Amino acid sequence: MSNQYFIGVDIGGTNVDALLVDEALANEIFMTAPIRPGDGTRPIEVIISLIEQLLAKGGINDWSSIKAIGVGVPGLVDAETGVVELAVNLDEKSMNLGDILQTHFGCPAFIENDANAVALGAMQFLVDASIKNLAFFTIGTGVGSGLVLNGKIFHGSKNMAGEVGHMFIKESDVRCQCGANGCLETFVAGPAIGRMAREATQNGTATSLSKHTHLDAAAVFTEADAGDAVAIDIVKEVSLVLARSLQGMIMSFDLEKIIIGGGISRAGDSLLNPILAEWKKMRADSVMAESMLQPDKLMMCPPDFRAGAWGAVAVALAQSVQQNEPMVLAQPS
Ligand SMILES: [Zn+2]
Repeated sequence: MSNQYFIGVDIGGTNVDALLVDEALANEIFMTAPIRPGDGTRPIEVIISLIEQLLAKGGINDWSSIKAIGVGVPGLVDAETGVVELAVNLDEKSMNLGDILQTHFGCPAFIENDANAVALGAMQFLVDASIKNLAFFTIGTGVGSGLVLNGKIFHGSKNMAGEVGHMFIKESDVRCQCGANGCLETFVAGPAIGRMAREATQNGTATSLSKHTHLDAAAVFTEADAGDAVAIDIVKEVSLVLARSLQGMIMSFDLEKIIIGGGISRAGDSLLNPILAEWKKMRADSVMAESMLQPDKLMMCPPDFRAGAWGAVAVALAQSVQQNEPMVLAQPS
């Protein structure tokens, strides 16, 4: 086992995940902990304690062998300084997470917005090594994305690049949590799919969705797969909006791949196939679409891929390569 290590930390809304790998990106150790254990422990204390436990589990007593820590966290992140603004999961308005971890563990710590980290991780660990331009769409309670262009995270001018959940799609009566109407996430996020299902059951149409006491996106995909016409219509509507939005991303950035992750990606082929069916229609109408919307450009994140944790490891790797001598990056075993 090599004696240098990378640590990736993914700070979610309910849990913190941490992954330790050696320089060969092998011998992975994964741990997770609730971010608010309910005993008054602050999120930052949970994070530090989890990393310490991870090191102990790996038998790493000499912390100077930690090459770098990478962190993915929701919020407005300045990757240069390590400062996180609007760090809701940390219960802080602003925190220099980079400084705190660097001081405590005595190694470089690199902080990145979680959606960006996940996109970098997908490039490094999920797709063909030749792919350098991709987007990772996370669709869960909201919709966000991370963009990797020419092999690097694209931050934009205000670190806001990839906020696709708030792209305007079309007029709608549904208000988005950002305050606007017509945002992408009000059409395709989990709560939106649940809302469409509840509306459908309330208008009296016969549908097997009615038997679900908890009408969520999973119920809709299950019933659509079982042939329920109402559920199929909802999936079609969601897929059409997504197919067009993804087309917009590909046309804007000439992307080689888009990966869909987040809770909705558990629908797998039940969502992938209807989106690809829409793309097929677009290809039939346009030579441009024929060249740009090939089905292999879109994939669902495999359910067993720890996108957040590997994304954070990728941030640690990429930054330490940038700061040190070139090193050859291996694929994980
Ligand atoms: Zn919005």
